[in-house]
Amino acid sequence: MENYHDYMVRAMAADKQIRAFAITSKDLVEYAKNIHSLSHLATAALGRLLSAGLMMGDMLKSKDDLLTVQFMGDGPLKHILVTADFNGNVKGYVSNPAADLPLREDGHLDVGKGIGNGNLTVIRDFHMKEPYSSTIPLHSGEIADDLTYYYAQSEQIPTSVGLGVLVNPDGSVSCAGGFIVQLMPFTKQEVIDKLSDNLNDIPTVTEVLKEGKTPEDLLKIVLRGFDIEFTGTKDVCFHCGCEERKDNIIATVGKEELNEMIKEGKEVETSCAFCEKKYKFSVEDLIRIRDSLKD
Ligand code: ZN
Repeated sequence: MENYHDYMVRAMAADKQIRAFAITSKDLVEYAKNIHSLSHLATAALGRLLSAGLMMGDMLKSKDDLLTVQFMGDGPLKHILVTADFNGNVKGYVSNPAADLPLREDGHLDVGKGIGNGNLTVIRDFHMKEPYSSTIPLHSGEIADDLTYYYAQSEQIPTSVGLGVLVNPDGSVSCAGGFIVQLMPFTKQEVIDKLSDNLNDIPTVTEVLKEGKTPEDLLKIVLRGFDIEFTGTKDVCFHCGCEERKDNIIATVGKEELNEMIKEGKEVETSCAFCEKKYKFSVEDLIRIRDSLKD
C-alpha cells in the first residue's frame, strides 16, 4: 500500500468525443515540499499546479515543447510557477513557500485565498517556433477552477479540471493527483449532459486517491457509463535539469547586477529557484557569463 508510484494515463471515451487525463503525483509533490520547505498551504497549491502542469504537458505535440503555467496573485503565496514537458518531467516553485492561512470552514486548505486575485498565464514554448502565451484573470484562485476557465476562454475547449492534494497534520503528503476531461468539437448533446451529471456527482480527487485508487479508477468514476479506452501511460517525476544550464541561473540577474558582482571581486553562491540546488560562480565565471549576454 505504501508503495506509491507517480504516473499519468490518457484515455478517450464516448467514441472519441471525450478525451481525458488523470494522474497520481504523491511522490513528486512530497519531493517538492521537501526541497522547497513548503508550508501545508504551499504544498497544496504547488502540488495541484504540478499535477495539472504534467497533464497539460501531455497535450503538447512534440518532445521538445515546454509548457509553463503561472499564477500571479495578491494573496500570501504570491507567485506560483510550474514548467512541464511532454516526457513527464515537471518542476516548479512558490515565491513565498512559508505562507500559511487558517483552514476553511470545511476543513480544507484555503488555496483560493492563498493565491488571491490576479492572473493566470499559460505559455507554450515550441521548439524553433514563436512561443504562444495567454493570460486570463483568476476566477477563484483554487487552480482547478481557474484552469477550467482558461480552457473555455483562451482555447474554446469545454474542459473540466479536478485537482487535489491531501496534506497530513505532520506536513507529509497523503495523496495528490487529478484529472482533466475535454469535449471534442463534435460532441453530441446527450454526451455533454451525461458527463455534466457525472461531474456534479463525484467524490473529490483526494477522497478517491486516499483509498489507494489509481488514475484509471479516477477516470472510471468521472466517466462512468461511458466506454473508456485507455490510450497511454507515462511515468512522471520532478526533474529540473539545471545542471546543463547553470549559467542561466545567475544570468537572469542581468548585466548591471553581474557588473556589481564582478566589482565586488568575490565568488557568488546562488541557488536554482526550481530545485534549490546551490551553485558557485567564480569572478572569472561571472565575467564570462556577462560577456555572453547581449546588451
Ligand atoms: Zn534546478
